Amino acid sequence: MPLLSIILPFHNESGGVRALFRRLYPVLGQLEMDYEIICVDDGSSDATFDALQHERQFDQRLKIVRLARNFGKETALTCGLNLARGDAAITLDSDLQHPPEVIAALVAKWREGVELVYAIRANRDTDGKLRRLFSRAFYAVFRTIADIQMPEGAGDFCLLDRKVIDAINALPERNRFMKGLTAWVGFRRGTVPFDVAPRDTGASHWNFFRLVRFAFDGLSGFSTFPLRIWTWCGALVSVGAISYAFYLIYDTLVNGVDVPGYASIMVAILFLGGLQLLSLGIIGEYMARIFVEVKARPLYLIAQRIGFDK
Ligand code: UDP
Ligand code: MG
Repeated sequence: MPLLSIILPFHNESGGVRALFRRLYPVLGQLEMDYEIICVDDGSSDATFDALQHERQFDQRLKIVRLARNFGKETALTCGLNLARGDAAITLDSDLQHPPEVIAALVAKWREGVELVYAIRANRDTDGKLRRLFSRAFYAVFRTIADIQMPEGAGDFCLLDRKVIDAINALPERNRFMKGLTAWVGFRRGTVPFDVAPRDTGASHWNFFRLVRFAFDGLSGFSTFPLRIWTWCGALVSVGAISYAFYLIYDTLVNGVDVPGYASIMVAILFLGGLQLLSLGIIGEYMARIFVEVKARPLYLIAQRIGFDK
């Protein structure tokens, strides 16, 4: 029988562990596949790890890896994919926002020969207004300037064939924007719709600033447009400046010296100062990411693993 790896990232989800497995097992039982469940404890500070160990008593196919600290969900998923032995792997959130029942549909698609099956969220009702606005804007910008096509509403709930897992594991970058990486590797793709459920217990780990950083991780990882646009801005401003200079010379020759001009000077200085700081900031964002890549630190550190062969 083929082996399916279920990859679950946990960060302070102790309250939801039992409920999650109660819904997951019936689904896995009906797949006619062997399975392994890889639980990545991403530096939880609550009782998540103990809860997972408790679950392992009932099923030895549940494996636990505890990261040395909180590395973030994308890295936790990367760790899970590195450890997965399955012919296919499914990554899903552990807070029951990704209904385990959808797994059956994902596997069905995979059996038809699709190598990368996205579970697409049919709506964003569970997100706040601001977050919905923000993510719509992000997708719009991403579609326009990125080098890859990412289906809107596709998240980290997906099934990856062994070929895709190997391809993603071979990518060297430290910036693990998983949505982008899966889109980048390509392969035969399909989608399955699903409704996002509200969070069962606990709270979302995202706040506005984390989301902004995440969004820029995504954009910078798959587009150099924010870096290059300043050439065009600079060119445009220069053309404007030269035209204005000619006009000023002409005006001075014809109408004589005209001292008042405080407003236009202030506007020009402030506008250009703002533009320069903005472009410098963008360059800084890219440079910081290059710095991170160059340091070549390990992506994550494993503190403990339970149930793995080696
Ligand atoms: N998560 C993680 N590490 C983190 C933050 C989150 O492993 O640093 C996990 C979390 O336990 C959950 C999933 O990633 O299973 C999604 O997190 P969350 O529900 O906070 O995000 P949202 O659903 O609001 O996008
Ligand atoms: Mg969630």
